[in-house]
Amino acid sequence: MPTLETIPLPLPINGPPAGFAYDQRSISQKSTSDYFDQKVAERDTWNSEPRCLVCGGPRDILQLSYIIQGSEDRTWADLKKRNYIPEEAKSPQHEPRNAMVLCTEHKFAFQGHKSIIRFVPEQRKYVYINFNRSPADTNHHGKAIHLNANDHHAPFPAALLIHEQLVRGLCPFNEEPYDVPYIIPFQDWMIEDNCNFRFAEGGNCNPFFNAIGNRGPANFAPPAPPNSSVGLAPGMRSLPPLDQHNLQDILSATRASASWKACVVEGTSWNGTAEENAEQYRRLGLL
Ligand SMILES: [Zn+2]
Repeated sequence: MPTLETIPLPLPINGPPAGFAYDQRSISQKSTSDYFDQKVAERDTWNSEPRCLVCGGPRDILQLSYIIQGSEDRTWADLKKRNYIPEEAKSPQHEPRNAMVLCTEHKFAFQGHKSIIRFVPEQRKYVYINFNRSPADTNHHGKAIHLNANDHHAPFPAALLIHEQLVRGLCPFNEEPYDVPYIIPFQDWMIEDNCNFRFAEGGNCNPFFNAIGNRGPANFAPPAPPNSSVGLAPGMRSLPPLDQHNLQDILSATRASASWKACVVEGTSWNGTAEENAEQYRRLGLL
């Protein structure tokens, strides 16, 4: 039988015995992890229940899915250097804006580089693309997932673009999806659930649709299909190419977002006077 370890007496006067000291680092890491878990869980709920962002799958099949993997710290650093994500963003493993709650099937599709999620700035929606044309996922293709672009912890669109480039690089012969609706609808289950909610609640929208206002910006008008769009079904297009113009649109919307500003605030020290903090707030462009 192993001998029981004893604490040598007398106990030290100025602190706990060796091996029992306060482990500030591990507690700090735990606190960061708790914050991460809490914020992702709060964001990815539907009617107060955690659900898959794509299909609405229930709690018992949900997993956390990272956009940029923890091992890709150089990519993360590059995104910061280029001002694609805020310099104040936490590490990839601890940044809620780099993670999503997905069911096992959609985590497999996303992290297995078979699907894409693209932020569409003019409609403020995150659209799901079944890039690998999986028959089981046809019904979710070209429809928005339940992410509120106004959420303070909405995922970074630039991180999703890096993921998209990986998918395209790994599937170079996949045909470009030409069946993305100009006006992106929400996933069917979200619309059905909202109908049921409105019926039960005397016409009120459910919390998600209330939060987003149930539509894109009032001045949004879908562009006219190009003349060369032979073969495109009416009302359909491909994903806008990631040229300088479209990339700039995505980045401009990202930098103006509540999520970007909240990330900067979280990562900034506010120990100054009220005047100093107000000046810092202005300097960081948070007004
Ligand atoms: Zn799912």
